[in-house]
Amino acid sequence: MKNCLIVDDSKVIRKVARHILEDLNFQVSEACDGQEALDQCSSQSPDIILLDWNMPVMSGMDFLTAYRDRHVQDGAKVIFCTTENALDHIQAALEAGADEYIMKPFDRETLQAKLQMVGVA
Ligand SMILES: [Mg+2]
Repeated sequence: MKNCLIVDDSKVIRKVARHILEDLNFQVSEACDGQEALDQCSSQSPDIILLDWNMPVMSGMDFLTAYRDRHVQDGAKVIFCTTENALDHIQAALEAGADEYIMKPFDRETLQAKLQMVGVA
């Protein structure tokens, strides 16, 4: 069973994503900001990280930079979540080490397609 870490400050988004991922047979954990996600990643190694951009404490971008620095060998695939009015974030995220991006709000088909694209589903 593969592990997915959902990083988002929205409880609703985490709930929706968890539902879809559990349906697809992933083991799911959650973090509500980048710092909490980094802390979790020091004791467990997710296969895939679903990462929000705007979060308090530590943003998705700051998390991604720190994460890629610390996990050069055992790094997870990272799917960046963004909104349609923040398209400029995508290039920056890909340059910082994201593997794919997904538009919010996303549905099951879209998320599953992205998981297949990064090779974890
Ligand atoms: Mg957010």
